[in-house]
Amino acid sequence: MSAALEQEIADVLGRRACSGCGLCTHLDPALRMELDAEGFARPRLVGASRAVPDAAAVFRRSCPGVVVRAPDAAPGAARDPLLGAQVGAWRAWAADAELRHAGSSGGALTALHAWLVASGRAARVTGAAADAAEPRRTVPVTIVSRTDALRAAGSRYAPVAALDSPDVLRPGSAVCAKPCEVSALRQAAADLVPGEPPLLLSFFCAGTPSQRATDELLRQLGVQADEPVTALRYRGLGWPGRFRARAGGREVSADYEESWGSVLGPTTQWRCKVCADGVGEAADVVSADAWEADEHGYPSFADGDGTSALIARTARGRRAVLDAAAAGVLELAPLDMRALAAAQPLQTQRRRFLRARLWGSALAGRRPPRYPGFQLLALTLASPRTGLRVLRGTFRRVRAEQGR
Ligand SMILES: Cc1cc2nc3c(=O)[nH]c(=O)nc-3n(C[C@H](O)[C@H](O)[C@H](O)COP(=O)(O)OP(=O)(O)OC[C@H]3O[C@@H](n4cnc5c(N)ncnc54)[C@H](O)[C@@H]3O)c2cc1C
Ligand code: SF4
Repeated sequence: MSAALEQEIADVLGRRACSGCGLCTHLDPALRMELDAEGFARPRLVGASRAVPDAAAVFRRSCPGVVVRAPDAAPGAARDPLLGAQVGAWRAWAADAELRHAGSSGGALTALHAWLVASGRAARVTGAAADAAEPRRTVPVTIVSRTDALRAAGSRYAPVAALDSPDVLRPGSAVCAKPCEVSALRQAAADLVPGEPPLLLSFFCAGTPSQRATDELLRQLGVQADEPVTALRYRGLGWPGRFRARAGGREVSADYEESWGSVLGPTTQWRCKVCADGVGEAADVVSADAWEADEHGYPSFADGDGTSALIARTARGRRAVLDAAAAGVLELAPLDMRALAAAQPLQTQRRRFLRARLWGSALAGRRPPRYPGFQLLALTLASPRTGLRVLRGTFRRVRAEQGR
């Protein structure tokens, strides 16, 4: 690896700022994404370095452990300080009932994936799915048919370096990945992809849990570490759907609050706790859970027919959504952005007080990624007391972690 790239990556890892996106494997093909001791995907050099020209410079512009830039809003788009820019926003679901049922919320992304490849709009879509050989693990997959799209439907609440696939840089591709991954690819595409950049699809993301949490959840459900697992889903087959695994001819399962709420969600990596962009501002189209709020204004996780909130951030993204709807692939209805914000308390609270968290982390000696253009200062200053509390709490937490 070029010494400069090596230093840059060591710096990101040392600051616990790596999101595990996998972009750097394209800057030096001798890098491999592997699970570290804490159960997160991290780059590791295997063999002699083969860094591409200007690797360190591209890394500094693109790695989400270094920087995530708020993209310029598309012409005519209004930028909401909490949810980002939009040129179109809908409640949406797959018209195909099987895809809707399989998807995490309304199967909107799965329907788009199947239509993009069937209509020739994309030669392939990169997504993420259970590893066929070891379904406890999650891997990037290439979608070229409805069957592939269906197999990849549903969220994977576990590490997967979605950009660790040669397909993400191939002309004519579309890529569905987490917000940090689409930001990295949007930046790097200018250097690494000849011609038009890939169509970028994403989803709101609260953060990546440790792989260890999946293993722990299986253990709590009675599946031993050495027992072969033949299928594992985190969501879908209903809304929100259950965590389900097949092992030894039986199915074990846990509901969304038991799985995400109690075991998976609490283990999200540090990088995700200091993330400015859980809402996919660099994507062309982003999907989210269009939860209904209960009487206390809190999202209701009662099972039902899934509905996605679909936001087009660019004219290209809007065209894809509207053409898919005209082709009878997506059902669209009006979306109330205020209701969406109310149903996404993690996203809105994290962004509101992020400036304070970033200060707390930096003061304690752990430099966070940079987030130019997100206007975080104004958001935090609107509630200075809470900001101060968050700053102090983050400072103490980072200091305590560093003292261990
Ligand atoms: C870690 C994580 C955190 C999330 N946090 C939130 C949140 O805070 N708020 C919210 O509204 N929604 C969140 N979601 C997204 C939500 O679970 C749904 O995916 C979203 O509503 C889209 O639903 P859909 O039915 O349109 O997608 P689907 O039709 O189910 O398609 C989802 C697509 O996402 C891809 N994918 C799944 N998991 C991953 C992964 N880990 N990395 C890369 N690609 C993946 C798959 O390839 C699949 O094609 C999160 C998802 C993940 C994976
Ligand atoms: S965040 Fe992505 S690009 Fe940066 S070091 Fe980690 S895997 Fe590599």
